[in-house]
Amino acid sequence: MRIGYGWDSHEFKAGIPLKIGGVSLPHDKGLGGHSDGDVLLHAITDALLGAIAAPDIGTLFPPSDPQWKGADSAVFLREALKRVRAARYAVVNVDSTLILAVPKIGPHAKKIREQVAELLGVAPDCVGLKAKTPEGMGTDNAAIAHAVVLVERKP
Ligand SMILES: [Zn+2]
Repeated sequence: MRIGYGWDSHEFKAGIPLKIGGVSLPHDKGLGGHSDGDVLLHAITDALLGAIAAPDIGTLFPPSDPQWKGADSAVFLREALKRVRAARYAVVNVDSTLILAVPKIGPHAKKIREQVAELLGVAPDCVGLKAKTPEGMGTDNAAIAHAVVLVERKP
């Protein structure tokens, strides 16, 4: 077995859609930056890549490359998963923590877990998701995601 860890952050910007874990959430701001700004999928993608010591998401999909502007982050996750499988590993489970002031993730957590599970080809009970508010961190205009993934060598 091997473990991978990923971390990401994006700043909230007005007037763009918010996507977290491949799910569109109702909010007046979205996450700016590279691709669609899906902070959770980026952290999980880096965790998958880290588990097999592959190059990180920024190396594989450089933000400077115009083809990734506005891209669906599921594309990055699928590429990472392809590399994990090519290295003859399978995903066992993922755990993650989101840190953001708003919007509340609780009402959407089940849907996000189900979506991430579908993208990874695992059962929803193999995807952990916690949401915290950034108490005392001064990061109320950002969303931060941490993720760990366990992969197991296929026979
Ligand atoms: Zn990112």
